Amino acid sequence: MKTIPFNKPFIIGRELSLIADAVAQGHLSGDGAYTKLCHRWFEDKLGCRKALLTHSCTGALEMAAILCGIQPGDEVILPSYTFVSTANAFVLRGAVPVFVDIRPDTLNIDENLIEAAITAKTKAIVPVHYAGVPCEMNRIMAIAGQRDLLVIEDAAQALLSTYQGRALGSIGHFGCLSFHETKNIISGEGGALLANDARFAGRAEIIREKGTNRSQFFRGEVDKYTWVDIGSSYLPSELVSAFLYAQLERADEIIARRRNICTAYATQLAGLQQSGLLRLPVFDENSNGHLFYVLLDSLDTRGKLIAYLKARGIHPVFHYVPLHSSPAGRQYGREGSTMQATNDLSERLLRLPLYYEMSGDDITRVCAAIGKFFAG
Ligand SMILES: *Cc1c(COP(=O)(O)O)cnc(C)c1O
Repeated sequence: MKTIPFNKPFIIGRELSLIADAVAQGHLSGDGAYTKLCHRWFEDKLGCRKALLTHSCTGALEMAAILCGIQPGDEVILPSYTFVSTANAFVLRGAVPVFVDIRPDTLNIDENLIEAAITAKTKAIVPVHYAGVPCEMNRIMAIAGQRDLLVIEDAAQALLSTYQGRALGSIGHFGCLSFHETKNIISGEGGALLANDARFAGRAEIIREKGTNRSQFFRGEVDKYTWVDIGSSYLPSELVSAFLYAQLERADEIIARRRNICTAYATQLAGLQQSGLLRLPVFDENSNGHLFYVLLDSLDTRGKLIAYLKARGIHPVFHYVPLHSSPAGRQYGREGSTMQATNDLSERLLRLPLYYEMSGDDITRVCAAIGKFFAG
């Protein structure tokens, strides 16, 4: 029996030949020709002011935390239902993550609970576009505007999703993308910081280049290259950028395929939803097909379904342990609302296999197995 894994990284076309070209060009460290091509691609395609590749979305979030001027004791509002890096990047600057509950429909931060979580110490809001489905950005930007807060979109899962015609990651002051091998567009590890506000673009380059003005020096804007600010090494090597560029060339095709897989899942599982046996995700043609989940009636059913599918060579996964209930979340953060939806939904969510090479038969096999589980 063929195994259907949860994820399978996919080579779409010219990745290896572009890496060979980068090697032939003799520029292996960062910010060579391929990194520049990627930057231009993001700026043109997403309409962000400045794109900077990083070694990960985690790195991009850390850069955003530095650029926001986060100081020890500052507070940052974010969902508890997210990956650790959303919180950790700010905790590293000494901030307190203030966790807000999610909406039961999209599983994104509940915009109606944000204002009550704001205090005099609040500096930023970090909406996470879960599954590539947009947060209510108009409301979030309005709340931030009234209180002079910065907004960092964790768009790790949201490349090429849109909200009212605008690319996710290009709406807040900052957007952070991931090209980890489990995301839609990949480079193994990889990420990007989108700086959408002109105020931050110059300093972003410096922080990314170890706190030096190296980028300005290479553009001939300063005559000496020196240490001018705090920073670290956040940029990827040209080998990674070349791989990424080959995926970006075919990005629309990759997204279209993933959307089709999500639609096929939704169609084939609609009957089980109608029977009240599970709930399907909310998504439309504006989201990028990043992931597909089902919500079951209980933790117990989820455990049984996982075992049932694994016995049939199908490998679903669940996430996240809510950050407010994790050891580090309890140590460094606090709850800014009740956590009712987060506690409930995180126990019942199951992600189904989803990767470019998944065939129609694979999808049918997964759906048929879920159907049989409920029939038996
Ligand atoms: C994947 C992910 C990250 C981390 O991305 P890396 O590139 O692995 O650092 C951060 N936030 C969310 C919501 C993610 O899904």
